[in-house]
Amino acid sequence: MNFLSVKNIGQIEPVCPYCNKRYSKMPTRSCKCKNCGEKIKVRKRLSDGNRVILKVSEVEKLERQHSIRRLLKRTLQDVNAEFELRKIADIAKNVDGRIISQADALWSLFSKRSLDYMKQQRWSAFSGNQIEMSELLAAEGKYSRAISPLSISLYLEANGGVARDWPDNFLQRKGRKRWNPSESFLGRYHLYLLRELAHNTNKDVGALYPEFNVATLPYFEGGFGISLSPEKAWANILNAEMNLD
Ligand SMILES: [Zn+2]
Repeated sequence: MNFLSVKNIGQIEPVCPYCNKRYSKMPTRSCKCKNCGEKIKVRKRLSDGNRVILKVSEVEKLERQHSIRRLLKRTLQDVNAEFELRKIADIAKNVDGRIISQADALWSLFSKRSLDYMKQQRWSAFSGNQIEMSELLAAEGKYSRAISPLSISLYLEANGGVARDWPDNFLQRKGRKRWNPSESFLGRYHLYLLRELAHNTNKDVGALYPEFNVATLPYFEGGFGISLSPEKAWANILNAEMNLD
């Protein structure tokens, strides 16, 4: 992300941005200036990663820089995905002289990513990729097969980790406080997908447990440090599903 110049915001010197009073050392957190009483914010700035002192009015500017960067990053990821997709389609075309369907090309892309994300232990990316696989299968009318990737994503979410801004490698963080089931975040969208797949396979949501169990058991037994068994996670998922409106 170095192709954009990002404006420096704030100051690295331990000086009050309002009254210019110099402090003996850099404040480590937001506080009030002991000289003029104004509120001082302390943040890491985007341009060079330095910790800086900011006026309250400058914090919003810094946050805008961060949100623009996030947006750019997502856009770049999309462009990159499209590029990978074309590459895979080209390879397939060259290998056996036919153009594979876009769905097949996407499937190859998602499968490759699945392995990459797992190796890198990027669990939230992994989980999102499972959802994309499930959506792709459902879009092709392969509803039964779509249950497995959705189950994996739901299972990771029921284990509390991939939601919010938690680190991607949460499953491996031994030092982390034990996960509390009440912090579980089951996305409504996931649950609606589950409901839709049940509907399209003419089953009650509860009757999908065998598929869920088969899909998720390897993750429970795989040494990733996942705390909830498939059975317990499923109980939470069903509970959340029943409370959907
Ligand atoms: Zn001051």
